[in-house]
Amino acid sequence: MSSSNVRNSRYDILFEPIKIGPVTLKNRFYQVPHCNGLGYARPQSLAAMRGIKAEGGWAAVCTEEVEIHPSSEISPYIEGRLWDKSDIPAHQLMTSAVHEHGALAGIELVHNGFHAPNRTSRLPPMAPSAIPVDAYDPVHARAMDLTDIKNFRRWYRQAALNARDAGYDIIYVYAGHCMTTLMHFMLARYNHRSDDYGGSLKNRARLTREVISEVKEAVGDQCAIAFRFAVDELMGKHGMTSEGEAQEVVGLLAELPDLWDVNISGWSHDSSTARFEPIEGYQEQYTSFVKSLTTKPVVGVGRFTSPDAMVSQIKRGVLDIIGAARPSIADPFLPNKIAQGRIDEIRECIGCNICVSGDNLSVPIRCTQNPTMGEEWRRKWHPEKIEPKASNSSVLVVGSGPSGLEAALQLANRGYQVTLAEAGQDLGGRATKESQLPGLFSYARVRDYRVNLLTQMANVEIYKDSPLDETAILDFGFPHVLLATGSRWRRDGTGRHHHHPIPGLDSLPIFTPDDMMNGKSPTGHIIIFDDDHYYMGGVLAEKLVSEGKKVTLVTPAAKVSAWSEYTLEQEKIQARLINLGVELITNQAVSNIAQNQIELSCSYTGKTKNITGDCMLLVTARDANDTLYHQLRHDPDRLEQAGIKTLEVTGDAYSPGSLASAVYYGHLAARCLEGESWDTALFEGERPGLVS
Ligand code: ADP
Ligand code: SF4
Repeated sequence: MSSSNVRNSRYDILFEPIKIGPVTLKNRFYQVPHCNGLGYARPQSLAAMRGIKAEGGWAAVCTEEVEIHPSSEISPYIEGRLWDKSDIPAHQLMTSAVHEHGALAGIELVHNGFHAPNRTSRLPPMAPSAIPVDAYDPVHARAMDLTDIKNFRRWYRQAALNARDAGYDIIYVYAGHCMTTLMHFMLARYNHRSDDYGGSLKNRARLTREVISEVKEAVGDQCAIAFRFAVDELMGKHGMTSEGEAQEVVGLLAELPDLWDVNISGWSHDSSTARFEPIEGYQEQYTSFVKSLTTKPVVGVGRFTSPDAMVSQIKRGVLDIIGAARPSIADPFLPNKIAQGRIDEIRECIGCNICVSGDNLSVPIRCTQNPTMGEEWRRKWHPEKIEPKASNSSVLVVGSGPSGLEAALQLANRGYQVTLAEAGQDLGGRATKESQLPGLFSYARVRDYRVNLLTQMANVEIYKDSPLDETAILDFGFPHVLLATGSRWRRDGTGRHHHHPIPGLDSLPIFTPDDMMNGKSPTGHIIIFDDDHYYMGGVLAEKLVSEGKKVTLVTPAAKVSAWSEYTLEQEKIQARLINLGVELITNQAVSNIAQNQIELSCSYTGKTKNITGDCMLLVTARDANDTLYHQLRHDPDRLEQAGIKTLEVTGDAYSPGSLASAVYYGHLAARCLEGESWDTALFEGERPGLVS
């Protein structure tokens, strides 16, 4: 927009081609493998999503992990499958979509070993040595004998041949995230063998060497062979470390693969949220040694969204190729925007891991910043294109939270004349407020990306300090009115556990997250009742402790911030709160209050006990701010007389949810204006084919 649309020569280095084995990347932007909840179950959705990335300028677009054999399947999670030739046509959808835009297609072949309980195939899992699977299933993996090892090598080789036939240009051998048989063999804590595959690191890495060599021999004339390797597990001497065995592994295999794709393990470290790893390039301290031990190109990740940080990685010899999963999800057009000098239009990832929650819940991927993610095929949404306006009407959007901002931006992109009115002095609603809480600074990007574009558009007018009421809206008489007036935290304890207010709340001071975000802070010993189960309760506990307050967090769940398990944060949150000295009381609900006596009841037995506290912070549920909507809509004649043709409500004002939901609803409302009603604009569903 304001940018010159000419690339700064500083970034030219990012657009140099890089040869990997027999193929060439057209630039240094590389979408590394990432899960998505589409996988084998939704191949058309998957192909469309990957194709959009290729269209956005990524030189390589890779699959998620793709199982090579039914002895390794992690259902109910939906990953890729290339069990045999019958899976090839589904993969061809993806490779064609990627090739159509001149990108290379990569496939991450995996055997998950004892990480796979094989709940669907019911085949016994395999491991270097006998061990229970790493889920709580009552299933053990058996130690692979030499026949199993021979079979394993054959499966990998055959999968590579099938991958080549499906059209892939880059074929991965995968030893990352502690989720793969090859990594399990390398780790002394899992490999207790006394044969040629156990003992010394050279022996433990033997299977990896054999597989890379055999895959290369099978398809290396046409395809590049990438090796994905986790160089550090962040568990000190108990695991792989970048100062220790990882150096030996890279030394042993240095020139064997055509490409080193290096990261840290487990997945929660590799895909750390911004709350726990706020700095771009956070893997550098672990991965930077790799380039000194190989002449082959090295790709790595670190939630890179800024071209200067990318250039710095290359110039300082840390990486040759900029890998990205989440930045490519938040903005599939990131490379093209840099190429075209449109840096201020990059939709930067906020590091919230809502994308990861899709995979963890076996549902299609979604993204807070990019509401079109996962919708490319089923709704035919494109991140950079939108249906033009249906008339020359103007639209009033009330409320500038994530939902109002997204709706206003997309309506403006459609060509409507948009007026955005915000009651407060700041734009951004909850994104602005929450970004001031500990660890949530990056949430401001939800606001910044949109406000930056909106303020440059000739067809948009923004008014702050403009609380609109019924009369004002009727007087203005915009033909289309969209209310995005948000929500507020409840003050009565109603939530998932209690369906009625908690008795006795008037007997001591009560606070809500809104109070705290508006600058009021409780004092004394604060009891947080967290029946929300996502990040807010834990974040506020952190804030209060940082202010020197005594905090007890009570939750009816077995863990604090239980839903954050799906964003890979739960264990880190619980550890942080314990380390900060927050008293955690789980499996208990606040059931009654009498002055400073707070009665708790056990989630299982209902048995009660009392604790004491000076005030309560209730983090339970939110109410939609929809009064204005109901006032306006109750009299359709009045709306008609005022010239209002459509009145809609969106975001948290319609249904409180995550930031991602608020953005998504705003986007949906904008797409549906003067078109199909959102409730009938149903998406296409992929259905299993029936064999006749
Ligand atoms: P969402 O997540 O749905 O976008 P938020 O709560 O983040 O909702 O944002 C709602 C925004 O709407 C807030 O910034 C609030 O100040 C604003 N707002 C609420 N009611 C009015 C109103 N009557 N007039 C103008 N702005 C309003
Ligand atoms: Fe980034 Fe969050 Fe989108 Fe994932 S969901 S890509 S972490 S903004």
